[in-house]
Amino acid sequence: MRHCATADNNPLGAFHIRHPRYTQPSAFDMTTAAETPRLDFIREIVANDVLAGKNGGMVVTRFPPEPNGYLHIGHAKSICLNFGIAQEHTPHSRCHLRFDDTNPTKEETEYVDSIMEDVKWLGFDWGTHLFYASDYFEKFCNFAEQLINKGLAFVCDLNAEQMRAHRGTLTEPGRNSPFRERGIAENLDLFRRMKAGEFKDGECTLRAKIDMTHTNVNMRDPVIYRILHADHHRTGSTWCIYPMYDYAHPLSDAIEGITHSICTLEFEDHRPLYDWLVNHIDGLPSRPIQREFSRLNLNWTVMSKRKLLRLVKENHVSGWDDPRMPTLSGLRRRGYTPASIRAFCKGVGVTKFNAQTDMGVLENAVREDLNKTVERRMAVLRPLKLVIENYPEDRTEEIEVVNNPENPAAGTRKLPLCREVFIERNDFADVPPKDWRRFTLGAEVRLTNAFCVICTDVIKDATGTVIELRCSYDETTRHGKNPEGRAKVKAAVHWVSARHAVSAPVRMYDRLFSVDNPDAAAGDDGDFTNFINPTSLEIIEDAKLETSLVGADPGQRFQFIRIGYFIADAMDTQPGKPVFNRVVTMKDGYAKQKQ
Ligand code: ATP
Ligand code: MG
Repeated sequence: MRHCATADNNPLGAFHIRHPRYTQPSAFDMTTAAETPRLDFIREIVANDVLAGKNGGMVVTRFPPEPNGYLHIGHAKSICLNFGIAQEHTPHSRCHLRFDDTNPTKEETEYVDSIMEDVKWLGFDWGTHLFYASDYFEKFCNFAEQLINKGLAFVCDLNAEQMRAHRGTLTEPGRNSPFRERGIAENLDLFRRMKAGEFKDGECTLRAKIDMTHTNVNMRDPVIYRILHADHHRTGSTWCIYPMYDYAHPLSDAIEGITHSICTLEFEDHRPLYDWLVNHIDGLPSRPIQREFSRLNLNWTVMSKRKLLRLVKENHVSGWDDPRMPTLSGLRRRGYTPASIRAFCKGVGVTKFNAQTDMGVLENAVREDLNKTVERRMAVLRPLKLVIENYPEDRTEEIEVVNNPENPAAGTRKLPLCREVFIERNDFADVPPKDWRRFTLGAEVRLTNAFCVICTDVIKDATGTVIELRCSYDETTRHGKNPEGRAKVKAAVHWVSARHAVSAPVRMYDRLFSVDNPDAAAGDDGDFTNFINPTSLEIIEDAKLETSLVGADPGQRFQFIRIGYFIADAMDTQPGKPVFNRVVTMKDGYAKQKQ
């Protein structure tokens, strides 16, 4: 059941809400998670506000990235939350996409474009509500003058080091700046000269006049404007003063009429300043309320944009969209579906507790989604030839196989079979371990969807490497049948007809780091790049694939039976020349390590 708000005749303009507390699933379930909104504490606050008729029953949220890098899986959590809440309150709601572009030295148009692409790809739509904090620069300036005129802001000549010395600590109060008592007229004049470019970078700042003895250091006369002679990706050289994030963010929210400003926990200590600003500036369309939730932390990767940028700049990966990156563009190229990422975000939930989520949970989300939706194919990654000696040399037959046992509508296809097939090298053991059910001399194994074969001869080269297996097949076991009275053959092994196989490169991606917490492994002085997994990418140049795979479209996904899920790389696949990326293995190979 959907959590839905419906308009009614309530004179207060509020809406009835069917409280989803009574409809949520009791435990997390990946199969229903994508469809069933759960009532987390933020959704509960929003639902209660709507119920109480606050903001005329409207819900306006925003996703406010700084365009200084590509979005990652942590951002997806914030996107799903902000856009998700707006969706659940349709039509009395909207979610804005706003670029918090107040730091010209780190921001680029490339990042703006990639962020828009990623949000759309995840399945969300900001409609006409696309905004840039830089569009409010003029307004921010006027608000700053308003604060000066109210005696609530002053121009300070302390340099960064002196300011730090005046700031105090968590246990000691700060000291007033010697410039704190400048008169209003002098402050106005100085601020306008800052804006006119009369001073050098760092020569002075505009600070809010709050309280240097406040227990919260963010309230100790925080800087709200700094001088920076730098070109901005949108405003060019128009400005040489730029607002600080803590000043621009609440004001952008208020200008846009945001009702619920949802951010991550590290901003909890900034909330008093957020409130101070929206309460002391006149003429703001709304008084938004900030709420904080815990960020998504994922093991086996890094998520700080600074570190992701290093991985790209130092060529540890092929780019922001390298399939091993936790970026949305990396996950997309790797083969993750938007639905799987949304299901994952829903599954991890929204709380105030800092927790670490296991990468296996994300991988499982894509596995579950692809299991339901993609077709099966046969592919042999490390081929070993098997010759069926009692099968006529000139014969080819076609075997009808189902495309997806989870989805009958996916239909069937025909697979060619002839005397020589490829099997996986590791499906043969010269000296089999205990309970081995696959190929070894004298053992009987089923070729999936075909018949049973018994290995009669093992051919080796001069170095002792196995280069070919000889076997004979049993006609009575065709089409997966096991005649009455015959011992059941337990193992079925996938194969590809040698004469019909197509060759293609397959990139076997694995986790980017070889430790579960690269930051902790590096410690304070170490370097997290020392823990990059040296086998995070293995390229198989010449995998043998069933014929139909030659026509794979860029971005098309498959399950390679018994091996895992794969996608035809969206960039490198050419007509008739697919290149495959491994999305994820069939099972969580790391799960064992955890025990
Ligand atoms: P930085 O501010 O260090 O550049 P950031 O990751 O906070 O990096 P922003 O562009 O400011 O990047 O993030 C946009 C929004 O996404 C913010 O509201 C932020 O709280 C949220 N966000 C960022 N990382 C995560 C995360 N790991 N989990 C949940 N939300 C996140
Ligand atoms: Mg941030």
